[in-house]
Amino acid sequence: MTTQAPIWRATVLTLFPEMFPGPLGVSLAGRALGSGLWELEARDIRASATDRHRSVDDTPAGGGPGMVLRADILAAAIDAAEVGPERPRLLMSPRGRPLTQVRVAELAQGPGPLIVCGRFEGVDQRVIDGRGLEEVSIGDYVLSGGEIAALALIDACVRLLPGVMGKEASGAEESFSEGLLEYPQYTRPQLFEGVPIPQVLISGDHAKVAAWRRAESEALTAARRPDLWAQVPGKVPNRASRQKTPKNKTDG
Ligand code: SAH
Repeated sequence: MTTQAPIWRATVLTLFPEMFPGPLGVSLAGRALGSGLWELEARDIRASATDRHRSVDDTPAGGGPGMVLRADILAAAIDAAEVGPERPRLLMSPRGRPLTQVRVAELAQGPGPLIVCGRFEGVDQRVIDGRGLEEVSIGDYVLSGGEIAALALIDACVRLLPGVMGKEASGAEESFSEGLLEYPQYTRPQLFEGVPIPQVLISGDHAKVAAWRRAESEALTAARRPDLWAQVPGKVPNRASRQKTPKNKTDG
């Protein structure tokens, strides 16, 4: 007996379903969507509105600017989506845990998430608690809605799904895959504005190329992202000195 794994599916709750698939309808993700490697369902939160004006938001309790997505409307929209308990329920939110490649890989390996896109000043806390929404941030800046954040999250997941990237392996060597940033890339022409491709890369010596790339990755990570570098196991301690980095304050 063969058990077919269910197709990875993103269910998005939004006030702007017309924003989907948007950029996910082209290139890698779009071709994969077209060939059924993943599925996307964009559901209109407004379909769960109950009054004549189909209103979904109201003024914040306690006062202040803006509007808040109503708990009853959003809860009804979540319930109507009928996602099983095995699927993660995410709320895009600047207060959330910052999205990482590790979390993206987890989400890509699962059945695919329900994603709630906030708008206005955000959503009523009771629906976050009552429906067990996991708040996810895509960075320390504020967007006007969760849709672009959801598109970013889905894009990052979809490219990791089996069969989506041309070469299965190409996800394994890129930025963050080992907690490091990616090494510099080069292609033709051999000489560009007087600058040649580094000799080692055209040497044909695969071991030397691998060693050079590893060293470049480590140096870049140490220089640009000390937060990531601090987490890398088995690193060469003073790799940071290979690149111009801010002076270590404890030196001298
Ligand atoms: N008043 C809120 C911001 C609301 S922005 C606050 O200060 O925290 C409106 C919506 O955009 C949010 O509900 C969220 O869904 C989305 N959003 C904004 N910035 C985001 C970010 N960095 N990551 C993920 N979602 C974000």
